[in-house]
This record gives sequence, C-alpha cells and structure tokens, in this order.
Amino acid sequence: MEPLDRSTIWPYEHGEPGDFYYHRFGNPTVAAAETALGELDGGTALLFPSGAGATTALVLSLLEPGDTIALARGGYYGTGVTFAALSGWGLRVVEFDQTGTPPEDVQLVWVEAPSNPYLTMPDLDAAAAHPAQVVVDATVATPIHLRPLERGADFVLHSATKYLSGHDDVMLGAVVCRDDAPAEKLRTFRGSTGIVAAPDPAWLLLRGLKTLEVRVRRQSATAAFLAGRLRAHPAVETVRYPGLGGLLSFDVADAETARKVETSTRVIVNASSLGGVTSLIESRSRWEADRVPPGLLRLSAGLEDPEPLWADLEQALA
Ligand code: PLP
Repeated sequence: MEPLDRSTIWPYEHGEPGDFYYHRFGNPTVAAAETALGELDGGTALLFPSGAGATTALVLSLLEPGDTIALARGGYYGTGVTFAALSGWGLRVVEFDQTGTPPEDVQLVWVEAPSNPYLTMPDLDAAAAHPAQVVVDATVATPIHLRPLERGADFVLHSATKYLSGHDDVMLGAVVCRDDAPAEKLRTFRGSTGIVAAPDPAWLLLRGLKTLEVRVRRQSATAAFLAGRLRAHPAVETVRYPGLGGLLSFDVADAETARKVETSTRVIVNASSLGGVTSLIESRSRWEADRVPPGLLRLSAGLEDPEPLWADLEQALA
C-alpha cells in the first residue's frame, strides 16, 4: 500500500517549498488517491471532506451570485438542500427532467447518473450540447459503468463515501475535472477556503479503489437479480432499475407497508446510504416527504449471496 502520511508540514527543499509543504495546499496520501481516481475517470481528481463539500466547493468556485443551476429533478435530495443553503449567496436553482433537454439561460447543468432514488439516466448528449458547463454526479454509476468526461461532461462529482470507498467507514467527496484551467481554479479555491480532505480517509479510498471493479460488478449483478425478482412479486407496484449499478428502488402500497418491510428484513440492514459491502434498505419518504411516493424503498445491494438476500426480502414483503 501507499504510505499514510499524516504530516501537515514538510521541510522546504533548499530553502524553497517542494510539492508538499503545508497540508491545506497538498498532502501526498491525498494526492495519491487523487491520481488513482483521476486515472479511473480520465481527468484531474480533487478530493473534499464529503460529497456535499465537493458540491459546495465546485459551485462556489464556478458560479457568481445570481447564476442559476439546472438541477435534475428526482436526484439526490441532499444536493438540493446544499444549493438551498447557498441561496443566501445568490445561487438560483431550476429543476428539470434530466431525460430531456436542460432549460436555456442557466449557467450550470447538474445531472445524476443514475439519479438517487428515481434511477433515471440523464440524456448526456442533450446536456453536452447545452452551452453551460455540465456536472454529472456519477456516485451511483461509478467509473466502472460510466466515464462522463468522455461523454461531454466538464466535471464528474462523486460521493466517495459510497462505492469508491465501499465499506461504510469513509466520508469523502471528489470532483474530477476534464480541463486543466478549472481544475487549477478549484484547487486554489480549495486551498483558500480550507475545504480539504484528511489523509486517513484518502488512504481508505486508495484501498477501496483497488477492489472497486469486483465490488461494483458483483453489486450490479445482485441488484439486477433482485430487480427481476421484485418485478414478479405481487406486493411490489413499481421497480426502478436502470440496468446498471448496485442501487434500485421499488414501491409497495403505502408508507405503513414500506415501514413494515424495512423493519422486517434480517440480513439487509435498515440504514441510510449506499454503495457499501452490506446491503441496505430504507424508506425514502422519511427524508424526502412527498418528493417520493410514500411506499418507495431504496435498496443498495451489498456483497452478500443474492439468494439469501431475496429470501430476506420475500419474508419481509410477506
Ligand atoms: N451525491 C449522491 C448521488 C449521493 O447519494 C450523496 C449522498 O448520499 C451525495 C452526493 C452527498 O455525499 P456525502 O454524503 O458524501 O456528502
């Protein structure tokens, strides 16, 4: 493994700062994780303390007061919450259907591939044809299923808390930039504002990336298997699964039924988040209220054997 360097300072070299001299402007363990992620996505990766922190840093470094973001409707609830928290600084948001063309007169297009928890895929060609810069939150797809920079995106956003780290023990975010100038602007902004990642989570990310492909392929196969079984179950009204990734959602009759299902599983853990080795289920109306159907359950497939996972879901649905 790459060494874990917790230093915050490094001696000057011949009286001058070298590549690393003060952690806020760069740390070798963080830089090693950034190099590994940058190679996976085909761009320059910058780490932040969380996905939400990466989102905040990116929009504050790119946009001006009064600018508007076209935000994919039905995407991660927290991204809208982050943007709402920045509305006092003049950030505006309009929501749109990401399976179509983004609205005109916006300064940034923000899509999610696939969206959490609606699991729609954005029309990446329509987004790339828009004059504004495009961010693709590819937390759920991961670079194993999608490399947005090759599809015309300017930036990829990851909650590295999820699949990239993969074991529910790391909080990190990342922005991967296609072009050098905005990457350097964001790096400078990060150093000035102090929204920097620590070396320990970066080291765990490095370790997680080494198994990313086998984990994501297995989780995707399990999610596809469970989506197929759920589609055939009489108590399940809708199944959302885009054909890739380890995340799916499905609807049961109402909020009360959803609560019964999520509290009746024995193998699948009733907890928030996604992308870890343990399968998780939760009713999303708890957080998102009427933004989602009351019976919507989000399921993140882990690395357990698929058949016992289905048996667990089946008994919970019963
Ligand atoms: N983007 C997506 C798609 C997410 O699911 C999440 C968190 O659930 C985030 C961004 C925010 O990431 P974090 O919780 O690491 O701040």
